Amino acid sequence: MNRDELRNRLTFYQDLGVKQLYKRAIPVSAVAPAATAAAPAPAIIEPTLPPLAPPGDTLALIRADVGDDCRRCRLCEQRNKIVFGVGNEQARLVFVGEGPGADEDAQGIPFVGRAGQLLTQMIENTASKEGIPIKRADVYICNVVKCRPPENRTPQPDEMEICGQFLFRQLEAIRPRAICALGSTAAKAVLGTKEGVTKLRGKWHKWRDLPVMVTYHPSYLLRPYNQDAKREAWEDLKKVLHYVYD
Ligand code: URA
Repeated sequence: MNRDELRNRLTFYQDLGVKQLYKRAIPVSAVAPAATAAAPAPAIIEPTLPPLAPPGDTLALIRADVGDDCRRCRLCEQRNKIVFGVGNEQARLVFVGEGPGADEDAQGIPFVGRAGQLLTQMIENTASKEGIPIKRADVYICNVVKCRPPENRTPQPDEMEICGQFLFRQLEAIRPRAICALGSTAAKAVLGTKEGVTKLRGKWHKWRDLPVMVTYHPSYLLRPYNQDAKREAWEDLKKVLHYVYD
């Protein structure tokens, strides 16, 4: 890459709001070799530079750019499968979660564990009660980070920043009528805010020119003492579904 190309790339990422990417290059030594590979894993090339979004970007191109053995951040060390996204590629509604858990990491599909089953129920039961004829397969579901954080820890800022570029490309390629951010990590990534879900939920926000609703993460709703949050999440979802499908 020559100096002009590098400068263009920097400007592009600065335009996207990526401020720190180049200051925090992850040393190659910080990333472990792939666990199963006989030969040492290839060193990370351009460790923190996700590819640019080409004009006419598609989910297939983005998936190809992520690659089959992404090693752009330390989450590659313990993941089994990259969990890119699932659902209707022309969905009117996109749900964004935090990152894969154990079930998702094993299957390569987002929201298939307990939280995922609750999300599916929330979408399908609310839609059905409201007379909106959609199923889970009609929406698109993905996460901020595509690889499981060890012990399901919260993704770190540099991991969110790197993988967030793929999320933004997914959102731009789909261009849904609305985005629903599930929980504080998704809200932080999509809205660039530090505000908590309690403050953000139930109101419309924006990612670029697309409307964003924030609500509680289904894992949070699975905790038995969160009855009020459950009711609120259902209200939020109703609002989104009517906005998108009426
Ligand atoms: N939690 C998430 O945020 N995403 C998943 O895919 C599963 C659980």
